[in-house]
Amino acid sequence: MEGKTETHQFKTEVKQLMNIIINSLYSHREIFLRELISNASDAIDKLRFRAQTESELFGDDTELKIRITADKKKRTLEITDNGIGMTYDEVVENIGTIAKSGTAGFLESLGTTGKQGAVTPELIGQFGVGFYSAFIVADKVTLITRAAGHERATKWESTGDGSYTIEQVNKKTRGTTILLKLKKAEKDEDDFTEEWTIRGIVKKHSDFVAYPIVMDVERTEPVLDAEGKPEKDKTQKVIREETLNSMKAIWTKDKKEVTEEEHSEFYRHISHDWNPPLTHLHLKLEGTTEYNALLYIPSKTPFDLFTHEAKHGIQLYSKRVFIMENCKELMPQYLAFIKGVVDAPDLNLNVSREILQQDALVRNIKKNLVKKILDLLAGMEQEKYETFYAEFGHIFKAGISQDFDNKDKIAALLRYKTTRSDGKYSSLTDYISRMKPDQKDIYYITGDSLTTLLNSPHLEQLKEKDIEVLLMTDPIDEWVIRDLQEFEKKTFKSAEKGDLELDKVDDKKKEQYTVLFDFIKTSLDEKVKEVKPSTHLKDSVACLSGDAYDMSAYMEKILKASGQDVPKTKRVLELNMDHPLIAKIKALYEKDKDAPALKDYTDLLLDMAVISEGGKLDNPSRFGKVIGDLMAGAIKS
Ligand code: ADP
Repeated sequence: MEGKTETHQFKTEVKQLMNIIINSLYSHREIFLRELISNASDAIDKLRFRAQTESELFGDDTELKIRITADKKKRTLEITDNGIGMTYDEVVENIGTIAKSGTAGFLESLGTTGKQGAVTPELIGQFGVGFYSAFIVADKVTLITRAAGHERATKWESTGDGSYTIEQVNKKTRGTTILLKLKKAEKDEDDFTEEWTIRGIVKKHSDFVAYPIVMDVERTEPVLDAEGKPEKDKTQKVIREETLNSMKAIWTKDKKEVTEEEHSEFYRHISHDWNPPLTHLHLKLEGTTEYNALLYIPSKTPFDLFTHEAKHGIQLYSKRVFIMENCKELMPQYLAFIKGVVDAPDLNLNVSREILQQDALVRNIKKNLVKKILDLLAGMEQEKYETFYAEFGHIFKAGISQDFDNKDKIAALLRYKTTRSDGKYSSLTDYISRMKPDQKDIYYITGDSLTTLLNSPHLEQLKEKDIEVLLMTDPIDEWVIRDLQEFEKKTFKSAEKGDLELDKVDDKKKEQYTVLFDFIKTSLDEKVKEVKPSTHLKDSVACLSGDAYDMSAYMEKILKASGQDVPKTKRVLELNMDHPLIAKIKALYEKDKDAPALKDYTDLLLDMAVISEGGKLDNPSRFGKVIGDLMAGAIKS
């Protein structure tokens, strides 16, 4: 074979594959550069790996890099690496036949999907396209390669029309050059010899590749005189070698080697957030689920978290080559505020979102990441955790409903302010440790502000009995309670629903009030479903409560605010039999069942109950008028 040019036919599968790649990826043609750079970077990786035991492989070519050379006039583009290179046999084996299991699998799946026309970029995304993607943009591809430690080089060439030629040639240096004779560009931005186009593609797809991707660029610079000062009006064209990628793939470094400054800079780069992150998580996993991850918890909620433009979540890489941003498949929604990079070497570069969802590897990584994040949160020092919770708690809590497997872990991370915590957060475990010896349940109340809740009449009896109540002010808490139901075998009990059963109601006294309470219910036009003696109240006259399974007032408010049609749930009007007002109304009623003031009084009882829980009156102006009249009558001048 020495010196002879041999012509070979591509295997039929290769021809088929090339056609499919060219046709189906035409609208994503810039990826050819990513694929070739990724091959070059792999080849340098391989060289470095082997050089660990065979250091002579480096020779005097020790500066590992990938070079891009564009020639506008000739319309050529060259990608050169000084990596491991290939022998003649390796070229025959790797390029031109299908040895790779991925590609074979791809062709097999074509058998089931039928014609070429059915091939979408999504489908092709399951498999590597690699080297053949060069034919999307090139009429002719020439590969010249010399394997490390070998004297001779091999030249492979094809116009992608079914055959290729191969011959032995001379090449001075180790590594591979791919020379593309570019097709005619239809649009300017398709001109892959254009410096800015190349820069853009490298920045977008290959910024973190570990080796410098360099390009010679022509610059016009002033001519300097003997003293190094620019000469007036004299310029010259000079060629400068520029590195196009940042290479800062700090996630692949050893944890201990990454400085705080690098973290801040990298975080800013991926998140576009100028606040420093609250904390980070740097993971390197080996074994069946292999990946590197560098994740950050921001210190502030990004303003665009759940909008369409939200972009800067998890970026997915494979061996430092960018695959996609905002990879929702790797992070559940309740952790959507986490930012960072996941690099999974076994993932295919063309993998699509559709495929990610079904990918077992991706699912495992996600499960793993969630576990690590929950562990990180559980191990955080209190103050830091509370900063996190104040910022992201309302999003994080949704995990109770979204992530059944981790429900207990998330529940242990919940924090609430309580009637006795003095404005500080308390965990559910701490709450339980403070429960009264005979207290069975965890008491909570929901509403839209701490002040309303702290002053809620529903809490009067509980306060009197010195029982602590969790104050829940996030809309999501309603769902948290619904899905959690209990914690450490203690049931959640609403302070505004059902009977509190703290004291036995005095049945005798209750009987005395039955007639009055029935009258009030009728007089209120059945706006409430029941009027009964309160188990909640101590100082206030009236409050509204629900049955244990009714919707809470706050839930009703949330649903209404979100524009939903809420079926009107009738509430229970609870009246305080120990309050002098109720006793006076009773006396009045017994004296004159038809007293005109009775209607006003019963209406006011309901209005007061509504107002005290922060609700809205049906007829506020009437309320104002009646109160005005009453006050006028009450003031003795
Ligand atoms: P993949 O990279 O997915 O394996 P390719 O078609 O891109 O598929 O490449 C096939 C094989 O050719 C590679 O696995 C590698 O062994 C070899 N190869 C490709 N490019 C280079 C290169 N620049 N240097 C050395 N070997 C290469």
